[in-house]
Amino acid sequence: MTRKEYADFLLPNVMHDVEYYESKYPERNLPKDAIVVRVAPSPTGFVHFGTIFQGKVNENLAKNSQGVFMLRIEDTDQKREVENGIEEIMEAFKHFEIVYNEGPISKSEEKGEYGPYIQSQRKDIYQAYIKYMIEQDMVYPSFTTAEELETLRKEQEKRKERIGYYGRYAIDRNLTMEEVIEKVKNKEEYVFRLKSPGHFSNKRVFEDLVKGEVEFPENDIDYILLKSDGLPTYHFAHVIDDHLMHTTHITRGDEWLSSLPLHIQLFEMLKFPIPKFAHIAPIMKEENGKRRKISKRKDPEANVFEFKKRGFPIVAVKEYLMTVANSNFEEWSFENPDKDMDEFIITFDKMNVSGALFDMEKLLNLSKNYLSTLTAEEVYENLLLWAKEFDPDFATLITEEKDRTIKTLDIERNTAKPRKDFALYSEIKDNVWYMYESLFKDVTYDWQKITDIEEIKKILQVYMTKYYDKNDDNDAWFDKVKQLCEELGYAANMKDYKKNPEQYKGNVADVSTVIRVAVTSSSQTPNLCDILKILGKEEIERRINML
Ligand code: GLU
Repeated sequence: MTRKEYADFLLPNVMHDVEYYESKYPERNLPKDAIVVRVAPSPTGFVHFGTIFQGKVNENLAKNSQGVFMLRIEDTDQKREVENGIEEIMEAFKHFEIVYNEGPISKSEEKGEYGPYIQSQRKDIYQAYIKYMIEQDMVYPSFTTAEELETLRKEQEKRKERIGYYGRYAIDRNLTMEEVIEKVKNKEEYVFRLKSPGHFSNKRVFEDLVKGEVEFPENDIDYILLKSDGLPTYHFAHVIDDHLMHTTHITRGDEWLSSLPLHIQLFEMLKFPIPKFAHIAPIMKEENGKRRKISKRKDPEANVFEFKKRGFPIVAVKEYLMTVANSNFEEWSFENPDKDMDEFIITFDKMNVSGALFDMEKLLNLSKNYLSTLTAEEVYENLLLWAKEFDPDFATLITEEKDRTIKTLDIERNTAKPRKDFALYSEIKDNVWYMYESLFKDVTYDWQKITDIEEIKKILQVYMTKYYDKNDDNDAWFDKVKQLCEELGYAANMKDYKKNPEQYKGNVADVSTVIRVAVTSSSQTPNLCDILKILGKEEIERRINML
């Protein structure tokens, strides 16, 4: 039997040979230094913040080099796949407005000429290459069961030897074709393993764009390339895909750095050009003085959906990702306030080698600053989108009260020092709830200096009958409050009060606080004159009568 016949026997249903795929996916027609990158998440749990981070980095690298950014779904571990995993990945990119040039765009559609971009749909491709490697004697079927592997492992532990299927432990390496055929006919389950040509005693040095030079022993382990379900392992799938998709830079989490000798070995054995590698450190968290990766289990902020749910402004999250990618981004954006953030060119040499710290404080500040630059209408539209999904009652309310909401959001907005009292869309309701008649009930008043309810009522009654005028601007309004003070024995200005406090019942700040608390319940609000204008006389009176 020739090796070709043997390969046909083992994989009889493969539709095409490797030449077919090599010519189906020709070299890309791009400028010389164009960067072709991909993000390759697995749909095995919620979408990790790191996926969005890599997305932002890759989008920037591709855009700035007239290259291509792909989204590839690595769903070959079907046991660990979660329901809607793929949809959630696409949704995360869409929500955070990170745009890939190629990849799946819905359950059944994709864009790009180098697909399918979902690995489970590339079965024939992987099998074609396995078939080729069988012919070349680079791959062999292995029947070693999980129990046998466990026995091997124990033996290696006992002897203090390296764990793995290599050298004399790679027991199926030397099976003859006849032995294999016999076992296959007996329906024994098997996988395809790499026949590694490497020697552990040989050292290899690789160049990583983030980590610099890294040295590893050559790979000598006969890793599984194709599993018994006919799907590839990550190691094999990524090499085939990145070759056929013509990825120029493999940017991925640095947990893959130690597998680099295997991956490079595969590229070399298949005579594929070797792409550049950039192993990016994960975003870290500091806890009790120790640094660790943000973890799916422990940190809610690892889940991108949390950012959506809490209503982080998308632009602020993206700006934050840029600061994590390259620490010099902040200085650049300070010097170039009018430029789009994507005009900044991310470079590998400015990436944090050991992992940037996740800085929630910084993200919240970016969010506050960003929201302060929007118009009230823009904040309203974003707030409404958020509320429709996460607080439908509030969405209904602000739809009915659109005008009031926009006016409220406009308070202290178009000034030299615009308000920065919320960072998240989810914080706005708690900030403005008192502006709505329907929410202003069962309130607790935060009275300050003046607490006697009879005195409070008197101040309010005199204010409403003699000094309230809905047409007053801020200065006129404040003058009236001062007049009110004079009438009732309060100091109209702070200087006088400080000189002779005993001559007064209190001062103008105490009196305006009474008005503020009566109509909002809170002693801390933005401009009171604006609040009074938006509420209107009838509602102010209704609130006073509630006291
Ligand atoms: N599916 C792999 C992961 O989620 C992708 C690694 C890569 O980008 O190559 O870690």
